[in-house]
Amino acid sequence: MSRTKAINEKCKDCIYDPAMPGSWRSQVEACTSEHSCALWPYRPITIETMHQRRSAPAPHPDDVDME
Ligand code: SF4
Repeated sequence: MSRTKAINEKCKDCIYDPAMPGSWRSQVEACTSEHSCALWPYRPITIETMHQRRSAPAPHPDDVDME
């Protein structure tokens, strides 16, 4: 299993509730555990958000967090 697939499966298992609205990706994208989960920056996002980010202008180097 690839790293990406493992993270996707972990997030889906963690938060996805089929009884709630939205796809598993949209529910994972809406995850609010930014400060408590190390996987948060790597969580899967929706295809729509992926396309929006790809078409957005690149951030200024001073705005990039290099941690
Ligand atoms: S990023 Fe959110 S959904 Fe994914 S494992 Fe962490 S807490 Fe769960």
